[in-house]
Amino acid sequence: MLGLAEDARYERQIRLFGAEGQKRLKRATALIVGAGGLGSSVSTYLAVAGIGRLIIIDGDVVEESNLNRQILHWTRDIGRSKAVSAAETIEGLNPEIEVEAVVEFAYEDNLADFVKEADIVVDALDNFSSRYLLNRAALDRGVPLFHGAISGFDGQATTIIPKTTPCLRCIFPRSPPKEKSPAIGATCGVIGSIQASEVIKYLTGKGELLCGRLLIWDGLRARCDEIPIEKNPRCMDCCEVQANFKQARRRCYGMESSESSGDAASEMKSGKRRVLLLLGCPEVPVQTSIALYLAFRLRKRGDEVVVAGTGAALKLTKFADPEGHYLGETMNIDRCIGSISEGKMDFDLCFAFAHSDAGITYAGTMSYISKAELFVLIFGRGAEELEKTVEFDCRKLVAKAVHDPMSLKKLIDEVID
Ligand SMILES: [Zn+2]
Repeated sequence: MLGLAEDARYERQIRLFGAEGQKRLKRATALIVGAGGLGSSVSTYLAVAGIGRLIIIDGDVVEESNLNRQILHWTRDIGRSKAVSAAETIEGLNPEIEVEAVVEFAYEDNLADFVKEADIVVDALDNFSSRYLLNRAALDRGVPLFHGAISGFDGQATTIIPKTTPCLRCIFPRSPPKEKSPAIGATCGVIGSIQASEVIKYLTGKGELLCGRLLIWDGLRARCDEIPIEKNPRCMDCCEVQANFKQARRRCYGMESSESSGDAASEMKSGKRRVLLLLGCPEVPVQTSIALYLAFRLRKRGDEVVVAGTGAALKLTKFADPEGHYLGETMNIDRCIGSISEGKMDFDLCFAFAHSDAGITYAGTMSYISKAELFVLIFGRGAEELEKTVEFDCRKLVAKAVHDPMSLKKLIDEVID
């Protein structure tokens, strides 16, 4: 049901994938994160191909030094928002489509919101810390991510399909050193065009995607190469541990059979829970920072938080957050355990830290005396051995070894949301 004007506009490409393919493009929403060199190139080709809705995120403003490659911005746009300037140029290129400019830098929360609305996500960023956030957001929502990056005459691209292909973190476990690399517009054109071509193929179901392969463009030699890439079984963003945690969470909240329906999730979200953070490992600073983060996230969600710990652990927590800003009520761990065992109080959910013998003992006790869903968080050296030896009441226990606080934070995000 394309209009006549649209038929004429897309006539040459409808020969490739038919009117049905064109309709698929029209129905799609593409999120383009970054309106710089790559963003300019990708957005241009997606817009003229007739992708129905583009959301372009960029918090930056146009500078003169951008103009050698960021072709959506013109000399008159210097000093203006990149997202707005990009959207205006695109509207001129193809007024048939909808373009939304988002004048924000990419961070965890807004990425999660925008990825939710998108059918595909394009990585047109210029730094890996934001790329990792985008990778996570795309994995969480199961939305395909089209990666591209350039430096000078060199570039690379790959297509990431959640659960199927390696993710960005599998390929680049650590961020490459930050540096302001030289850049030429033509390289952005090459890589951005590859990304756009991948998106069009994905949406119309044509051809073979750049999945499980990292395409490397060597502009100086005018050569294209590709490296086979594999899933990293220890990848902190898409590995088994993560999947297990999701499964466990579903089990805990009776969401096993309702993955596709948002109802169970939103019901769970709306309910205020009484949550206990059990800091059983005295004098472990990393426990404190994770606990603060947990308390912050839980309270933001509307849960009631109680922190129980040894004197030393509580002191550390107070030291880390003197205002008590992110914490709930604090209490002595032995008094707390005593009250639960006497049936005087209990919780809906408990996060127990178990990277010391004392921590493991407290977590074990909780698994027998409390009705709370129990998440035992084990991390640090020897975590895997601990994971094997911990044997609590498995009906309500998820024990996981995690190797660094950042990945633990990510697991926590999974469990809380
Ligand atoms: Zn991965």
